Amino acid sequence: MIVVLKSGTPAEEITRISEELAESWGVNVEKSIGEHKVILGMIGDTATLDQRQIQKLSPWIEQVLRVEKPFKRVSREFRYGDASEVLVSTPNGFVPFGEHHPVVIVAGPCSVENEEMIIETAKRVKAAGAKFLRGGAYKPRTSPYAFQGYGESALDLLAAAREVTGLGIITELMDTADLSAVANTADVIQIGARNMQNFALLKKVGAQDKPVLLKRGMCASIDEWLMAAEYILAAGNPNVILCERGVRTFDTKYARNTLDLSVIPVLRSLTHLPIMIDPSHGTGRSEYVGPMAMAAIAAGTDSLMIEVHPNPAKALSDGPQSLTPEQFDSMVEQMSVFGKAVGRWSERSLVTSA
Ligand code: PEP
Ligand code: MN
Repeated sequence: MIVVLKSGTPAEEITRISEELAESWGVNVEKSIGEHKVILGMIGDTATLDQRQIQKLSPWIEQVLRVEKPFKRVSREFRYGDASEVLVSTPNGFVPFGEHHPVVIVAGPCSVENEEMIIETAKRVKAAGAKFLRGGAYKPRTSPYAFQGYGESALDLLAAAREVTGLGIITELMDTADLSAVANTADVIQIGARNMQNFALLKKVGAQDKPVLLKRGMCASIDEWLMAAEYILAAGNPNVILCERGVRTFDTKYARNTLDLSVIPVLRSLTHLPIMIDPSHGTGRSEYVGPMAMAAIAAGTDSLMIEVHPNPAKALSDGPQSLTPEQFDSMVEQMSVFGKAVGRWSERSLVTSA
């Protein structure tokens, strides 16, 4: 249930109403401040609460509404229809993700392989306009015999790339034991598709401060995905970005997954959280990444994740879907046309090389 307060409600009155709601009705109250309204979200057993009785608490209460969805905190209704933004701190400044901001580009290799390649890739993607370097230190591989990532030493290389370029770092966390090491390096912690419903991991990243990039499980429904995000918000971390990376379907002959771009309008109506699209894992083929990235921008994505490798043929993982830095340059050029057309492109977001 949410309580919508009239604009101009005095701060003391907001506090008084919040305390009264918590004390008299035994619910947790979360305040969110939108552009024009202050919303008090009530979490707990609200089924028997009487909306009219709550309304009488204060003349400053405009409306009392029930949130019908099973996911509460992530639902759009919980914010009275407003989108939220996730503001990420990076050495180059704050980068906002969200519906009312320019498209944010995140790029880098599937795996961090060595110092030279990660620094080179970081410089190249930054020069092209990316705001974040994404690279894997801990890799979730189908085969236990496949390259598993260089772990902590790869985190050190990501930190070095951050130092050199000022780019924000995104990297995946697979094991709760690695949380503090990953959180020390990453500006955003990625939870991969295979761990979308690893509830122990979700609770842990929910209980720390770094923003979380939550990939959709390869067979997850949208409700399951949003409930996974709800775990993170329920544990106290409101900064979650949802990343579509393709779902399993019957035809894997030409593309690795089916990139479900219909999630963009669907999520937009269901949740206030920012959206990211990953056409690299979504298609598995470098030649399809550009067209799907354009389509994602046209459909209204807030951000994109693109795999880029200096030499895809030699990549230790996901070479076939990785772009060369040159291909990435021309793709960003093309994307800017679509970004401008939908009013979601800012030349300010393109930073020049360090
Ligand atoms: C990745 O981002 O490199 C990755 C392994 O992605 P996913 O979890 O979507 O498979
Ligand atoms: Mn990959």
